[in-house]
Amino acid sequence: MNKIVLASGNKGKLREFAELFAPMNIEIVPQSDLNVPEAEETGQTFVENAIIKARNAAMHTGLPAIADDSGIEVDYLLGAPGIYSARYAGENASDEDNLHALLSALNGVPDAERIARYQCLLVMMRHSKDPTPLICQADWQGQVLQDPMGDGGFGYDPIFWVAEEKCSAAQLTAQQKHAISHRGKAIRQFMRLFNDETI
Ligand code: IMP
Repeated sequence: MNKIVLASGNKGKLREFAELFAPMNIEIVPQSDLNVPEAEETGQTFVENAIIKARNAAMHTGLPAIADDSGIEVDYLLGAPGIYSARYAGENASDEDNLHALLSALNGVPDAERIARYQCLLVMMRHSKDPTPLICQADWQGQVLQDPMGDGGFGYDPIFWVAEEKCSAAQLTAQQKHAISHRGKAIRQFMRLFNDETI
């Protein structure tokens, strides 16, 4: 079985990766199991940060590494929080803090102007000096709710309105979310590329 280190410590992401990779012949090992120190996300774009994280994990383990850099972009806020989604309410902010910071930033903004999307950038590096990483990108369109609804998912899911299901992302089952989410789509792209690969 192929062993790939996952360059993330985010529990919500780790759970979704485990669920989405279950059908594949790949063993996903979280970098925390291998004592990989967190990389500093100094990039200006999702793709730069994903490469930084994957390279760091590959360098410390000698294994191929996959990283997901993701976030939510709100049109009214000119794309914020974007790459800063995990630290929108400050360094070490909780999901709850970030979600409330976003609700405050949109206080009084009507529904029609609360258009948002999740972005997921997935990068796999076969080794730390890989000059041609596998790169997959997908988004998920939605709207920021006025108040949280539901307790599934993670991060901003309780305030992310999914029009096609008429509920928040936190009210979807894991399977429903994976079928339409940014991460589900990016991982399916990745699987198609990976199936043609020998690492
Ligand atoms: P990263 O770990 O630096 O890529 O930060 C990603 C951040 O974006 C997370 O901490 C969440 O706040 C947010 N995020 C990404 N994907 C999702 C999702 O599927 N649901 C809810 N929030 C997400």
